[in-house]
Amino acid sequence: MDIFYRSTRSKGEAVRASQAILKGLADDGGLFVPESLPRLDKSLEELSGMTYQETAYEVMKLFLTDFTEAELKDCINKAYDSKFDTEVIAPLVEADGAYYLELFHGATIAFKDMALSILPHLLITSAKKNHVKNDIVILTATSGDTGKAALAGFAGVAGTKIIVFYPKNGVSPIQEKQMVTQKGDNTFVVGITGNFDDAQTGVKQLFGDKELADIMDKAGFQFSSANSINIGRLVPQVVYYVYSYAQLLKEGKVGKDEQINVVVPTGNFGNILAAYFAKNMGVPIAKLICASNENKVLYDFFETGVYDRNREFVLTSSPSMDILISSNLERLIYLTAGADADKNAAFMKSLSETGRYEITEEMKANMSDFYGNYASEQETAATIRSLYEKTGYVLDTHTAVAATVCNKYKKETGDNHKVVIASTASPFKFTRSVMNAIDAKYDAMGDFALVDELSRIANVKVPAAIEEIRTAPVLHDTICDKEDMKSVVMNFLGI
Ligand SMILES: *Cc1c(COP(=O)(O)O)cnc(C)c1O
Repeated sequence: MDIFYRSTRSKGEAVRASQAILKGLADDGGLFVPESLPRLDKSLEELSGMTYQETAYEVMKLFLTDFTEAELKDCINKAYDSKFDTEVIAPLVEADGAYYLELFHGATIAFKDMALSILPHLLITSAKKNHVKNDIVILTATSGDTGKAALAGFAGVAGTKIIVFYPKNGVSPIQEKQMVTQKGDNTFVVGITGNFDDAQTGVKQLFGDKELADIMDKAGFQFSSANSINIGRLVPQVVYYVYSYAQLLKEGKVGKDEQINVVVPTGNFGNILAAYFAKNMGVPIAKLICASNENKVLYDFFETGVYDRNREFVLTSSPSMDILISSNLERLIYLTAGADADKNAAFMKSLSETGRYEITEEMKANMSDFYGNYASEQETAATIRSLYEKTGYVLDTHTAVAATVCNKYKKETGDNHKVVIASTASPFKFTRSVMNAIDAKYDAMGDFALVDELSRIANVKVPAAIEEIRTAPVLHDTICDKEDMKSVVMNFLGI
């Protein structure tokens, strides 16, 4: 069956998957949603005999129905290869009665690799299918993690270039080092003298600059975006929820049709929405547990039905979840409003004008699959320490937020379904926060000494992504004012 995609904000024309991937955002500012959610057409028993790549094909073919089998398999095989440091791509590790789904074995040791490894291939395939002759230029503003994962994904991919702007003094030293050491002739990294909002605003202006678009088109270039609302990032994330359930079944950890709960450390709501899609496809998931840090907009929303971003922004030790507007939640709002674009558009208008909206009782009832809670900074650190002391397994700060919320949920409800916890980053990515949680004495140690110490106490090899940046030469040293972003882009493209 062919799947078409529609905007969450108007009843505009339906587009094919490849067009939705190329466009990223709908013309009315809405997000693309499949007209209907497909069901798996293989049984979970059949899937339990498959590799990650085979499972990816079985899931993604149901969403990307205008890709041929050969095209999709080619994208999958180019994405999930030896860039990952384990053949199983997304291993499950059991610790203290929960199953941690490790999504951090890719090039930049965070879960964004799961989607950003394949997005470049989906994008250039989509460009070919739609007779786009131009090279695709990816433009991104980053507060740290996404920039590096996008760079790693697009580096060396023919027909693409990638330009990343980051706030010169607004990312961690390790994050900066990861970006400025990026190899690949088609990559370009620029520090701007401003904060993340300046970088983001500048990028949005460039996207909307018609004069620039014309000049680029004549020279054979066009912009595209890799941000997390692209359907080409969401669909690959559904795969690992199907895969993890199939693995539990294969290993006899769950019985046939036995339901599990899934816990996801959440920021932009992309990862947990992928789990919701997996449930709707037929994976036996009971509850979708949404874990927030002290920026607990989503917890309040699931409790009260009121989404309210008017609050103080808290900087936490889980920075990738420091978000007050969870963009992908819009898709759930739309779906639980009965795919009513007008209704959703009214909520989004209210959000942009007042920072707040309130859903109906009926919509709230349609969200009963979800449970939300949050973890304080102290609770998160305590979870890292106690799990380490009990089992020797070391969590990163984001995953520890999820583990904390998982414990709260069990205590509150007595629900004893087996649990899969999405483990979204390697502890080596947030070494200092993790080590300080285990013992305050570590604060005196230098960055790389800490890395070695973490390796020793956790008995885990230092990941290549960290090993590389110890000695890697700096390849990008461009710094610019926010006013000069356009000329920097033109310079890089030679136009
Ligand atoms: C991006 C990110 C998250 C949040 O994921 P969303 O899909 O935005 O909800 C959680 N943990 C880590 C480590 C991340 O990089």
